[in-house]
Amino acid sequence: MAALCWAVFDLDTAAAVLCVLLLGLLLHHLRNMARMAAWARQPLGTPVPGSIGVWDYIFACLSRRTRDAQERRELLARNLARFREANQAMPDGVIYLSQHHTIEWMNAAAAGYFGLNAETDLGRAITTLIREPDFVRYMQADDDAGQMEPLILHSQRQDGLSLAIQRIPFGENLEMVLARDITQLERLDMMRRDFVANVSHELKTPLTVVNGFVETLLDGGDEFSLDDRQRYLSLALDQSTRMQHLIEDLLTLSSLQAGSEPAEEDPVDVQALLGSVLHETRVLSGGRHQISLDAGTPASLLGSQKELHSAFSNLASNAVRYTPDGGSIHLRWGVKADGSAEFAVEDSGIGIGAEHIGRLTERFYRVDRGRSRETGGTGLGLAIVKHILTRHQAQLDIRSEPGKGSCFTARFSPKRVHPRA
Ligand code: ADP
Repeated sequence: MAALCWAVFDLDTAAAVLCVLLLGLLLHHLRNMARMAAWARQPLGTPVPGSIGVWDYIFACLSRRTRDAQERRELLARNLARFREANQAMPDGVIYLSQHHTIEWMNAAAAGYFGLNAETDLGRAITTLIREPDFVRYMQADDDAGQMEPLILHSQRQDGLSLAIQRIPFGENLEMVLARDITQLERLDMMRRDFVANVSHELKTPLTVVNGFVETLLDGGDEFSLDDRQRYLSLALDQSTRMQHLIEDLLTLSSLQAGSEPAEEDPVDVQALLGSVLHETRVLSGGRHQISLDAGTPASLLGSQKELHSAFSNLASNAVRYTPDGGSIHLRWGVKADGSAEFAVEDSGIGIGAEHIGRLTERFYRVDRGRSRETGGTGLGLAIVKHILTRHQAQLDIRSEPGKGSCFTARFSPKRVHPRA
């Protein structure tokens, strides 16, 4: 343009035009630089201003780069949110620690287990918040190889809560603390150990007695009369019968525990079942008690004949075994207006203290161990009854008063009861 002016006009005019052009260009650059500076001060995501010439190209490049950065940020934020959601959904407690053991993040389970606040406790040292000495020692131990055994912590804060705590190093000197609730596992383990100890104890006593008699007979040679031999052998037989009953009950219990449904789903004729339970009860009592039956409305019970028979006769035989001679035992069946039904065994026996009632269906729980053994009990009868009733969706209700008698009632829901014509 200036060269054209020089050709057409004179040098001064051309110089003046050149100055104006340069000034315009300078102003254009300054204006765009100011717009860029103003844009840079805006929050991320503010649209890049448009322009012309080289500035249009620069702004287009900037716009593409900020869009890419924005998309990367959104992707990162989405991944972080998903990662937090996944950690939040974990049933275990998760705490992320910085290299100085301050809390960077924790999920709700961890906050619940340790009584922490998932927002206000961030940034604080974990050992100043969880002060249980075992935990503090565990967190202060060196774990260079990252292979520390988990710590089993019996919480002082929440009664009965047991946690398995594990430190897991990751990244650069960062750590994750995992806390798993093992209360239920520990309880099961203890129950298993108690059960094995109980079974061993129950078998050991009669076995010792049998061994004793056999040794006595072997050592005694010919010095025992035939009567003595008979007596010792029959006492040994009593003990081996006891062991046999125990093993039978254990097998019954284990087969009942194998599933949650009755072995069969047949319509069981309740009146026939009651007749056979009454007969067995009379045989067991041998005329020592007054035994009566109110067979109520004829009905069928949907379930397993064998299991229902076992449950009903266990309740009736307990009534015989825990009722002194001369007492009364009443068996009762009834269908209610709502279609549910009850089988009850009422006795005028020794009764049970209120403090024992909640535990009677535990395996090997006995109020009076001596009396249970004398009458051939295994301590498993009511546990078997409870399992059978649970498999039939029935409830066991126990009412009793020491010295006055007891009433054990099995309640069946209308779904299982079908009145017979
Ligand atoms: P056991 O073989 O010892 O009788 P059970 O499981 O049948 O075992 O019963 C558990 C305990 O419940 C018994 O040891 C006894 O103390 C108590 N019990 C059960 N039935 C009666 C009852 N009808 N009267 C009094 N006590 C009972």
